Amino acid sequence: MHMQKIALPLILSLLIPFGVCAAESAAPPADGVWRDTPRAKDAIRVLVVTGGHEHDTSFYSIFEGYPDIAATVRPHPAALMRDLRKGIQVLVLYDMVRDIEPEKQKVLQQFAEAGKGIVVMHHALADYLNWPWWAQNVSGAHYVFDPGPDGKKSSYKHDEILDVRPVGQHPVIDGIGPFKILDETYKDMWFSPKIQVLLQTDNPTSDEPVAWIGPCTTSRTVCIQLGHDRNAHGNPAFRKLVRNAILWTAGK
Ligand SMILES: [Zn+2]
Repeated sequence: MHMQKIALPLILSLLIPFGVCAAESAAPPADGVWRDTPRAKDAIRVLVVTGGHEHDTSFYSIFEGYPDIAATVRPHPAALMRDLRKGIQVLVLYDMVRDIEPEKQKVLQQFAEAGKGIVVMHHALADYLNWPWWAQNVSGAHYVFDPGPDGKKSSYKHDEILDVRPVGQHPVIDGIGPFKILDETYKDMWFSPKIQVLLQTDNPTSDEPVAWIGPCTTSRTVCIQLGHDRNAHGNPAFRKLVRNAILWTAGK
């Protein structure tokens, strides 16, 4: 976790379709010509929000190669400047913005209350800390930078090997058995008692839940703590988890 470093891909991705960025991390095809994946007419329209945190360009490859997912990336501050209810079915948050303005709070709240899909990934668990409504009603957890009355704050650790195992049965973890992943862990986050845990780990540097359903009663919301860098982005179980989360939150 690092604050407020703006990575080059964020700037590059401001106004161009997703696939262009993904080309940076994908292996070149045999003829050397990279082509976008043809999208189905009814492909799920996904808006991926970045900004406020550096990340590997391998992140973009998570959304590539699926005809049924049409993802566009947009960083802050442009990402949440307009009503997203028309045109966007699933919002994937991979931003890290501690303070969010009232106008953007309204855009997010309207989206959540309209029954749209929301996927909160990795450092986006440190989002919008000036707006407790979000964690209490939507994501169901947040990273703690400033110690509260109990003196506790969250910590992170890079390059940990996590043994991850599914909890119960749910479409988001369909086809995902126990797996290992090399990733950054978070510990001592705040959690709502209303989350439904989907994946957990016993890595001592991590909180036990690493994926869960948020408490939102109007939208389907999935939170995934995993996803720091290319080691996670290239992990087949992680990639399937993100795809499942997009499909399920979209109502598929
Ligand atoms: Zn990270």
